[in-house]
Amino acid sequence: MAKKLSILGSTGSIGKQTLDVVAAHPEQFQVTALAAGSQIEVLSKQIEKFRPSLVSVATAELAKEVQARFGHALQVEYGESGLQQVASAADAELVVTAVVGTLGLRPTMAAVLAGKEIALANKETLVAAGHLITDLARRKGVRILPVDSEHSAIFQCIHGESCKQVARILLTASGGAFRDKTRDEMQQASLADALAHPNWSMGAKITIDSATLMNKGLEVIEAHWLFDLPYEQIEVLIHPQSIVHSLVEFQDRSVLAQLGTPDMRIPIQYALAYPERLEANWPRLDLLSVGTLTFNKPDLTRFPILGLAFQAGKAGGSVPAVLNAANEMAVSLFLDGKIGFLDIERTLVSVLEQHAPVSHPSLDEILALDQWARETAKREIAG
Ligand code: NDP
Ligand code: MG
Repeated sequence: MAKKLSILGSTGSIGKQTLDVVAAHPEQFQVTALAAGSQIEVLSKQIEKFRPSLVSVATAELAKEVQARFGHALQVEYGESGLQQVASAADAELVVTAVVGTLGLRPTMAAVLAGKEIALANKETLVAAGHLITDLARRKGVRILPVDSEHSAIFQCIHGESCKQVARILLTASGGAFRDKTRDEMQQASLADALAHPNWSMGAKITIDSATLMNKGLEVIEAHWLFDLPYEQIEVLIHPQSIVHSLVEFQDRSVLAQLGTPDMRIPIQYALAYPERLEANWPRLDLLSVGTLTFNKPDLTRFPILGLAFQAGKAGGSVPAVLNAANEMAVSLFLDGKIGFLDIERTLVSVLEQHAPVSHPSLDEILALDQWARETAKREIAG
């Protein structure tokens, strides 16, 4: 029987690659519901090809247009409630969360509450509300399967062993577009420079997060929640080749790593098919052509945001949610050409300084603080 999938963010980078995996395994997977934002041309092609029974788009106008194209055999919803309906679609067994940012928070909670297995790409939701999501998932007996390549690597290395036997995890990072740049060069950097990721092709927001190393900071917090490990046991290594996707050191000093080409279809397929491994015909890893694998310590002086994220993670409570929301706003202003690259970190520092932490925030408190952090970031930048 084919596993039935709901995909949140089907028109994005992860969403499209998820559908590549589905198309490569039509007997294994069936698409039951899709949610997109505003790219309805792309969504329409996906509807024709994968025949979901429910879709959602960003607005009522877009929904009307999609409905007119496909008639009433297709249920078309929109907005936050549409996303939540796709996340909890009655016949979906696994929900792929591939929207960007805390937009994914309520739908992810809705999916877990409805008892759906989660293939989690949308790391910002775990950063903002890791305590709520992991607690609910435990109570519901729902598995959260990582899509992020580093976390998939760790998950594959830990497979079958208790997290208690893990001494530390080593998260690898490509180093992003500015890996070898000075602070002066970063100060002058253009949007195009920041979007030129050396190894991965991804959505705009995560590509900027890779250039600031915020992406790795978010991933440290994501790893803390996914693997229930204290921050003292999580380390980051710069690995420019992006071949070793992460490593796990066990108590006996044995170290396991997972390797592969920088191709998101591999971790996506692993999450979709778990606990099986399906055949794939993507390009093989050719270590002879890679030649050398190198590892360096991250430079926190050039990339202070990584240090900030570790601090926010350790502080816990509402602090990671505030850091994440301020970052979403700052990155969006950078993408709009309103601020320079180094203004992103200045904004984060300033918003965190103004935040009075809450130790066990509820979902509503997190969403209110998310809003507050965005407004404060915007004010900071306007000032
Ligand atoms: P993209 O920007 O490529 O895609 C975002 C998706 O969200 C699109 O389908 C977009 O729709 C949809 N969306 C935007 N606004 C709305 C809305 N209001 N309602 C419903 N859907 C909306 O992002 P990525 O695929 O790069 O990233 C997705 C998540 O996965 C992020 O959390 C990222 O950190 C994570 N991730 C991504 C990786 C990658 O390789 N890209 C790797 C590891 C993690 P539309 O385009 O139609 O407007
Ligand atoms: Mg990653």
